[in-house]
Amino acid sequence: MHEAPNAILDAQKRISALTMTTAPMQTTIAHLARVSGRGYWSGNPVNLTLRPASQDSGIVFRRIDLPNRPEVAGQSCHRVDTNLRTKLIDGSAAVEMVEHVMAALYGMGIDNCIVECDACEMPGLDGSAMAIALAIENAGIEQLATPVRQYRITETIRIVDQHAEIVAIPSQSDGLTVAYHLDYGTDSPIPASTSRFAIDPDEFLQNIAPARTFLPERDASELQRMGVAQHVTYRDLVVFGESGPIENTLRFPDECSRHKLLDVIGDLALCGVRLHGTVIARRSGHNLNGKLAEQLRLRYAQRLRSHSRAA
Ligand SMILES: [Zn+2]
Repeated sequence: MHEAPNAILDAQKRISALTMTTAPMQTTIAHLARVSGRGYWSGNPVNLTLRPASQDSGIVFRRIDLPNRPEVAGQSCHRVDTNLRTKLIDGSAAVEMVEHVMAALYGMGIDNCIVECDACEMPGLDGSAMAIALAIENAGIEQLATPVRQYRITETIRIVDQHAEIVAIPSQSDGLTVAYHLDYGTDSPIPASTSRFAIDPDEFLQNIAPARTFLPERDASELQRMGVAQHVTYRDLVVFGESGPIENTLRFPDECSRHKLLDVIGDLALCGVRLHGTVIARRSGHNLNGKLAEQLRLRYAQRLRSHSRAA
């Protein structure tokens, strides 16, 4: 039901031929890529195998540990609100902590990929997307014969809640630029910072993928009291005590806002297309980011339908 009808796809190809003659081609990975680890929340071991996929497949998660190997598309229509992570459900297929996988695929320029997994929760690794991005780089990128699906932001879209906002605004230049303003106030041990990047594979690999997730010590202790993340140590992410990171050093002075920017990329990738525009986030988290992704996904579908009617 989430596949675009053929008429819409045909219309998109005509639009691409008429107005986007220089449109880049869709991509997939050239070879298998494998990443293994444990889920942060569940502690369960998980093995990912990233497989090449054909044009217009998008990103698809496949639960190979379940009967009939059910699949869920990496699209915001399958997102459910969850605390501190991004979860997708379609029928019996559920996957969570997908944001770093989605960010690595988008950031490294991969449009189509099957992500096979043998557990619900994606690996936490070192809290960053580095291992996944490197696995994709090692697998190589293959161009396919169909123009990329893309959406240019043409009007401001603002999603807000009490303390946070995320805004998409039009931009003259091609590609996606993301800025993240992190400021939890003077009471927080996490330092305020701002990061801004135009997203391309080099920038992603060098400056975004290595940024690790983080927590204040009191939140980390509370989670462990609740019985989750029992195996996670101070070396598996950045835990902030009153005087800074505990038993750890930051990889960048603005590592925290870079990581939040990484999360924004992963959540926005759930719109299912390449974006052109600027996205500015202030303290936003997965649920707000996901709502913007769904707005963008719906607007892209609407634009395809109106081009289809006009053709
Ligand atoms: Zn994250």
